Amino acid sequence: MKVQSDKYTEFVSRGLGKDLAKRLGLPQPAVLRRYEPGAPLVQGPVLVLGHSEGADAVAAVLLGWDQDVRRHATPKERLGAVVLVLDELAHPDQLSAPLREAGSSLRDLARNARVVSISRPALAEDSPEVAAARQGIDGIMRSLAKELRGGSTANGVLLANDIAADSPSAMSALRFFLSARSAFVDGQFLTAYATGEPVGQGTAESREAAEADWGQPLNGRVAVVTGAARGIGAAIARTLARDGAKVIAVDVPAAGDHLAQVANEVRGTALQLDVTATEAGGRILDHAAQRHGRLDIVVHNAGITRDKLLANMDSGRWDSVVAVNIASQLRMNQAFLASSHFASHPRIISVASTSGIAGNRGQTNYAASKAGVIGMVRATAPLLSGRGGTVNAVAPGFIETDMTAKIPFATREVARRLNSLQQGGKPEDVAEAVAYFAQAAAAGVTANILRVCGQNLVGQ
Ligand code: NAD
Repeated sequence: MKVQSDKYTEFVSRGLGKDLAKRLGLPQPAVLRRYEPGAPLVQGPVLVLGHSEGADAVAAVLLGWDQDVRRHATPKERLGAVVLVLDELAHPDQLSAPLREAGSSLRDLARNARVVSISRPALAEDSPEVAAARQGIDGIMRSLAKELRGGSTANGVLLANDIAADSPSAMSALRFFLSARSAFVDGQFLTAYATGEPVGQGTAESREAAEADWGQPLNGRVAVVTGAARGIGAAIARTLARDGAKVIAVDVPAAGDHLAQVANEVRGTALQLDVTATEAGGRILDHAAQRHGRLDIVVHNAGITRDKLLANMDSGRWDSVVAVNIASQLRMNQAFLASSHFASHPRIISVASTSGIAGNRGQTNYAASKAGVIGMVRATAPLLSGRGGTVNAVAPGFIETDMTAKIPFATREVARRLNSLQQGGKPEDVAEAVAYFAQAAAAGVTANILRVCGQNLVGQ
C-alpha cells in the first residue's frame, strides 16, 4: 500500500529547510504529536482557569488523571494545556477577565499544547444576554485556533441539558481534546448530553466512565469497518484493534488481497462485501453473530467520489456516489437497529466530509451524500438513545490518502495548506476520532459532527 507523505513539512521542520522557510516567510507546519499508548496525556502542567464550582470539579478530575494541575499561571512555566471552564456565564462582559488571564499564559505554551474551553451551548430559550455570552465562546475558540502555532490546538466542550462541567461524557471529550488523539482536530466543539440518568451516583454512565480503561478503551468490543482495505478505513481498523476491539474488516471482493492483509494485521476477520448490496447489513450481522455473538460498533467508512460539474453530471456518477456513500448506510442501519445482536450500548460512526458542510466545486453528488450522512446521524441519534447507543460522524478535511493523491499536484499542494495547521491530516487522525466516539466513556456524546480538518479555511 502506498503511504502518502508531505515532503514539504518534513523539509521545513529541520536544518536548511527550516531556515529557508523562515527567511522566505513560507508556511512552517509543525510536526504534530500523534497518540502513542502509554505516552503522557499532555506535555507539561495543565492550567485550569475559571472560578465556578465546575472549574474546581474539572481540576479535581485532571488530578485524578495524574496531571500536574495549576489554578494560577506561574510566569515562564511551559504549559502543556490551558482548560478554560466558563460554565456559569451570564453576560458577554464576563468574558473579559478569564480570557485575558488565558491570553497572558499563551506565550508560555509548549509545542503541540492544547487550549480547551468547557461551556454551555447558546439556546433559543436562553435570555439574550446569556446566549450572547455562550455563543461568544464559539467565536473565541475558533479565532484562537487560528492564532496558535507550533501544532497547538484550541477546541471546546459544550455541556448540553445542564449537565455538570465534570460529567463523565464531558470529561471524555476533554480528555480527547487534550490528548494527541486529536492532533488534527482544531477549532471544533463536541457536545456532551445527559444520558437520561443522574450523573455521579453509580449510574450507568458514571460506572462506564469509572471503569474506563484509557489504554484499551474498546477492550472486548466487536467492531465492523467498511472500506477497510486501504486508506482511512484501514487506519480505523488498526486503531480500533489497538484500542482493544475485535475487528471485522469489510471491502469489495476486488480489494480482497489488501483486505485480507489488513484483517490479518489486526487479528480480525475479513468479509468481502459490496455495501450497496441489499443484504449487506444482514451479512455483517450474521458474520458478527457467528464469530462473536454480537456487534457493538459500526463504522461506515466506505465511500467514493465521481466528480463533475453539475452541468456535466451524468446519472451514473450521481447514482453510484449516493448509493455507496449514503443509501447503503441508511439500509444497513435499519438492519442493525432491528437486530438483538446490536443492542448493548451500540455505537455508529459515519465518515462524512467537509465537502458535505462547506460544499466543493465539482462535488454536488458527493456533497449531497456527505451532507446526507450528517442529516442521517442527527435523526438516528434518538433511535439509538433508548438502548444506550450513540451515533456520530467525523468529517475529514484534506487527508493524505490514495483518494487525495489523485488530485493534480498544484491543487493538492494548495488544498493541504489551507488550514490552521498548514498540512494535510493522516488517516490515523480520522481513525482516532472514530475510536473516541466508540468509547464507553463517550456515552453522552451523540449526534455530533466532528471535523478532523486542522480547521480548514473552507466552511465553518
Ligand atoms: P479510499 O478510496 O482510499 O478507500 C475507500 C475504500 O472503500 C476502498 O478500499 C474501497 O474499495 C472501499 N469501497 C468503495 N466502495 C465500496 C463498496 N461499495 N463496498 C465496500 N467497500 C467499498 O478512500 P479514503 O480516502 O480512505 O476515504 C475513506 C472515507 O473518508 C470515504 O467515505 C471518503 O469519502 C471519506 N473522506 C476522505 C477524505 C480524504 O481526504 N481522503 C476527505 C473527506 C472524507
